Amino acid sequence: MAYTWEPKWELIEVDVDGMKIKTCRDRITGLIACPICIHAASKCMDEPAPANYEYENVFFYSVDDLINHLLYYHARGLKKKFEKIQSKLSSEEEE
Ligand SMILES: [Zn+2]
Repeated sequence: MAYTWEPKWELIEVDVDGMKIKTCRDRITGLIACPICIHAASKCMDEPAPANYEYENVFFYSVDDLINHLLYYHARGLKKKFEKIQSKLSSEEEE
């Protein structure tokens, strides 16, 4: 592992184009993680980690940077994956 820093994740909610996105923020550095890249559900929402998940350490200093990443990196080719994760993350919105 290249990372010696041990994040202390807390759950936060950000508004991305009207969508509420839950993700993890490090209490120490204030860095915001991409919920898809790090699999926020298992990192800070006490959900089990998926068996085959390609984790990436992607962190941002501001919510704007995270939104840009979500919209331009994930919203394209990974739109379906994004929606799947988003629906999983917004479990309190069950109808
Ligand atoms: Zn990402």
